[in-house]
Amino acid sequence: MEKKPFNAFEMAQQQFDGVAEKLGLDPAVRDLLRNPLREYHFLIPIRMDDGGYKVFPGYRVQHNDARGPCKGGIRFHPHETVDTVRALAMWMTWKTAVVDIPLGGGKGGVICDPHNLSDREQEALCRGWVRQVAKNVGHEQDVPAPDVMTHGQHMLWMLDEFEKIHGAKYPGFITGKPVGMGGSLGRTEATGYGVMFTVREAMKELGLDISKTLAAFQGFGNVSQYAARLYRQFGGTIICVSCWDQAEKTTFTFRRTKGIDPDELIGITNKFGTIDKAKAKALGYESLPGDAWIEQEADLLVPAALENQISGANVGKISKRVKVIAEGANGPTTPEADKVIADRGIFMIPDFLCNAGGVTCSYFEQVQNNMNYYWGLEEVLSRLDEKMTSAFKAVSDLARKKNAYMREAAYMIAISRVAEAVHRRGWV
Ligand code: NAD
Repeated sequence: MEKKPFNAFEMAQQQFDGVAEKLGLDPAVRDLLRNPLREYHFLIPIRMDDGGYKVFPGYRVQHNDARGPCKGGIRFHPHETVDTVRALAMWMTWKTAVVDIPLGGGKGGVICDPHNLSDREQEALCRGWVRQVAKNVGHEQDVPAPDVMTHGQHMLWMLDEFEKIHGAKYPGFITGKPVGMGGSLGRTEATGYGVMFTVREAMKELGLDISKTLAAFQGFGNVSQYAARLYRQFGGTIICVSCWDQAEKTTFTFRRTKGIDPDELIGITNKFGTIDKAKAKALGYESLPGDAWIEQEADLLVPAALENQISGANVGKISKRVKVIAEGANGPTTPEADKVIADRGIFMIPDFLCNAGGVTCSYFEQVQNNMNYYWGLEEVLSRLDEKMTSAFKAVSDLARKKNAYMREAAYMIAISRVAEAVHRRGWV
């Protein structure tokens, strides 16, 4: 029988259904939470640099706002689909709930490849996206942020368009803005650092000395670069990093078993997270196939690229040495692979807990925007550590108490909080 193509939304619903059943959720609450509340699908026509026009499909999905305005990034990716955006929006609802910040879940996307778009064309796309949803997003409704292949400059163009339309200043409309333009110190580091705060706690629980551990990373973009930096500061040794190479249209793993200095590697990585192969070779890195990261003799695996990366097809390649998997990416592990990982007793730090540092810092950014007063870096990072550590502990305590897998425990906490909010509001 032919295998069905991977569908992130079906996977998110499958994960939800399993836990909803265990929690004995009311059928109406289930119907409400397993689907997005609202979706916007639109087209964004852009005048290209060559004088011609192109039309790009765009989305904003608002999964749930019972606990506060929807919150979630905007992804620019050629393989984006509305179902991926739906899944990511749903995971955002669980993410804001598990770290207990007063926000809901949403996500946006544009099907485009920024590798092939000039800055001017990307600016036009950002402004066009905002024009399509300007009445349906905002600091009290739905707050966008960066995600794969979008960053601070994109957020600033979007903010500028939103403020032009509404004729006033609304710095809290969007987060991930550049520092000095309403952005928060620490936002760039937040997701990757948050990943490592949870890894530090997991290793403490397992009685592992982090400084004696080895790690393999998949992806070398925003999340991975900062996670790698903090891991090294904690004394851990990174043995390999994989990335997508746009020129060769394939992935590579760069390995140096004696240890990788993330700053050195960042120095030869472009803004899309692609490591320069020739320069890596000159610096003594071995270049291996893209999926080699998963089979390394490491204690820690950090998938921090995209969804559907650890599947039934490659989960068997994970080495016996691996003790912790920290999901920097959203949805990197399919349910089939997840079951194998759970059965093997590998400590899983599930995506919506592990990478919640970004949205937590985005929330801090909004708080600072509201006060119009900005915190120093130390203050932001120590608040982030506190939030991530307490969320991790709540999940791991529940996992221990119920003898549950970490993903299941995280879902139990998040879904219960959102279910309580919809119930108390009298929605169902
Ligand atoms: P990014 O665009 O900065 O980097 C993505 C990296 O993944 C790049 O190095 C790219 O080369 C690599 N990559 C892409 N496909 C790959 C493949 N098949 N194999 C190996 N490497 C591959 O993106 P990012 O912001 O670091 O986001 C990465 C993941 O983390 C995504 O799942 C995203 O949704 C999630 N996430 C991001 C944030 C954030 O604040 N940026 C927050 C939470 C979750």
